[in-house]
Amino acid sequence: MARAGAIVGAVLRLLKSAVEPGITTKELDEIAYKEITRRGGKPTFKGYRGFPASICASVNEEIVHGIPGKKILREGDIVKMDVGATLEGFIGDAAISVPVGAVSEDAQRLIDDTRQSLLEGIKAARPGGRIGDIGAAVQEYSETRGYGVVREYVGHGVGRFLHEDPQVPNCGQAGRGPLLRPGMCIAIEPMLNIGGWQTRILDDQWTVVTADGSLSAHFEHTIAIDEDGPVILTVPDDSEDLKKDLP
Ligand code: MG
Repeated sequence: MARAGAIVGAVLRLLKSAVEPGITTKELDEIAYKEITRRGGKPTFKGYRGFPASICASVNEEIVHGIPGKKILREGDIVKMDVGATLEGFIGDAAISVPVGAVSEDAQRLIDDTRQSLLEGIKAARPGGRIGDIGAAVQEYSETRGYGVVREYVGHGVGRFLHEDPQVPNCGQAGRGPLLRPGMCIAIEPMLNIGGWQTRILDDQWTVVTADGSLSAHFEHTIAIDEDGPVILTVPDDSEDLKKDLP
């Protein structure tokens, strides 16, 4: 799991550095495919329920599950990239939101706050706790800042399959839901909208957008619940990124 996660972390770091005005989401997908396979992994999403690409690339009001294509990124956009890699039968799954060139203050704040909401959720994922602790932490952090927290799409258990039990909602009540046990691996993935939490699906039957057209951001990590607390698996091997923020 950790080695699959390290591939995902490395690919996301590479994708982040590749984002610039003028690049297409298809080009980002090609970069990801090459890097995942160069590292010995398989792109988990390619072919998953018929999904046609290695990554999901979602721009602005697109929340998740955008299909890479001819869309050209422009200055001021925000792009969300979701990557899954399978290595020796185990899966890592993570996502980041990246500004394209200079973005509005609101867009940058949305990105920063969504990233922090993920860290709040991760901090709440402690052995002996409950799944509801995670959603409660994400929801509390996000709603007090005025964001809509997407309800219809949630985090999930992950391991040999991309989506395993339990579901990991981004809203909830502390102390409720399945027990968090050492050895569990889950993907936590808050999606925050500047407007309401409601969503709809585009005609391509994949792309999820905000119902009101407002900007959305998404961050995700695969974590393991360790005896001592949560451990983020989807970071590059050489990275201390994010770990410093953990309790
Ligand atoms: Mg996921």
